[in-house]
Amino acid sequence: MPKGASKTRPEKVRCGLCGKTGRLIKTDCCGNWICDDEHKYVLFSFARNSCHRNHSRYTLCAFHHNEGHEGDWKNCERCRTSCETEMYVWYGTNEYNFEKLPNPPPFEPTKCSKCGVVIKLGTEGFTRSGDESWCEDCGAKEMDKTLRRTKGRTVPVPRAVRGTVRLASRSSERNMRSNPTDRMKDPFYAGLLFQIENIICQADDEAKTKGLQLTDSQVKSALIKTQKKLQGGEPDIPETNERERILAELVNCLIHAPDALMEQTTTGDGRAEEKPLNISDWVKALETVEDSVKTRKSHIPGSRDYLDFVHEFIGQAKGMK
Ligand SMILES: [Zn+2]
Ligand SMILES: [Zn+2]
Ligand SMILES: [Zn+2]
Ligand SMILES: [Zn+2]
Repeated sequence: MPKGASKTRPEKVRCGLCGKTGRLIKTDCCGNWICDDEHKYVLFSFARNSCHRNHSRYTLCAFHHNEGHEGDWKNCERCRTSCETEMYVWYGTNEYNFEKLPNPPPFEPTKCSKCGVVIKLGTEGFTRSGDESWCEDCGAKEMDKTLRRTKGRTVPVPRAVRGTVRLASRSSERNMRSNPTDRMKDPFYAGLLFQIENIICQADDEAKTKGLQLTDSQVKSALIKTQKKLQGGEPDIPETNERERILAELVNCLIHAPDALMEQTTTGDGRAEEKPLNISDWVKALETVEDSVKTRKSHIPGSRDYLDFVHEFIGQAKGMK
């Protein structure tokens, strides 16, 4: 506190990040006062408006604590090796820290494998494809190419995603945790999963209005076919009866849904931007939902355990919005 400041205003506890004096709470990781504002974060939104959420999701301090490491995060070897250097430095020095990492190690900036532009991993959107990293522009171009290859016929934009849907910006934690189960914790992927499951629910509702019942296995097969098509394959999608027509429409909706999805990102100078969704992210999300169907469905033929779960989940998520 600057000299004399305590004379001019009464000693009041403030959020160590933004300085506000409203509702405050102490962080679990470092015991600092912080805005008790997680409730301000809207599910599936892209906001980084919650001090508490920002500190607990985007800092080494919280990561170190949550992972149960020993000692001080600032000289923790396990933290140092759990993500690439650029992210380690970002987690340790971004504005969501009370105390910054002293002497952050140097790192080679990540460059787009296609156009060479420097990608700031902590704050910018990008796509990983094998060993390559693509900037958002190049990722979007790749998506266009893939879509042009895979789009046979034109269909109306699926009802579920009519209009533009803004997705949560991707979490940089994605780099730290990239297996399918952990993807679900990423707000960006959570937004994608929500879109996919919403479309599945609509297909199921559609079937119900025609007196039919879809099964978990049929949904799983539709998800697999969608991924194949998006990756340039030509899976067999019969349409000889009403059930098959509904499933074919489900595949179709899932293929075209990314047209209406926009990703929120922040440019280097902090401006908000919207970019078309990278198709590879959509495919990863489809894979995650497929995993979730596999986990939930029982072995009894005709199982609807996943479908019943997803109706409940989508209903709740909509209620929370
Ligand atoms: Zn605050
Ligand atoms: Zn902390
Ligand atoms: Zn640690
Ligand atoms: Zn590029």
